[in-house]
Amino acid sequence: MRQTGSNSGLRFEREKMGSEPSEKTASDGLNLNVKTLLSTGLLEGISVRYIHHGRNKELPGIIKGVDYCCGCTECNFNQVFSARKFEAHAGSKSSHSNNHIFLKNGKSLHNVVKKLGDLSLESIGEVIEGVIGERPNFECYEAWKDEALESV
Ligand SMILES: [Zn+2]
Repeated sequence: MRQTGSNSGLRFEREKMGSEPSEKTASDGLNLNVKTLLSTGLLEGISVRYIHHGRNKELPGIIKGVDYCCGCTECNFNQVFSARKFEAHAGSKSSHSNNHIFLKNGKSLHNVVKKLGDLSLESIGEVIEGVIGERPNFECYEAWKDEALESV
């Protein structure tokens, strides 16, 4: 197991400050977030639940691209929403929607991203199965990799 380098994270924080917010690619892994993780396709089609314990709200969903198929009675998995909108359909609201979206093993997506640390997107495929406790979507991941390599 590789140690997570806190130095590199620090450097990134510093670089971020004082510079214009820009569209950064996540290939260096330092700014891995839920969206970049979803963009790799590894979690495509995986079942999630929006759970807000404090509000006693719960709603099933399925990961679709970087968004979520909503499983509320109205949508019945026919609508695809951002995390925020998915959360709204659960009848909830928070400043960190991804903290409330959980996998089958009880880890939140936010948690998964934290566990993966500063691994590069190209290498998370090797460890993610252990983190999420189920088989990731390697088909989508391979397709994403092909595309990502092409665009470099
Ligand atoms: Zn819905």
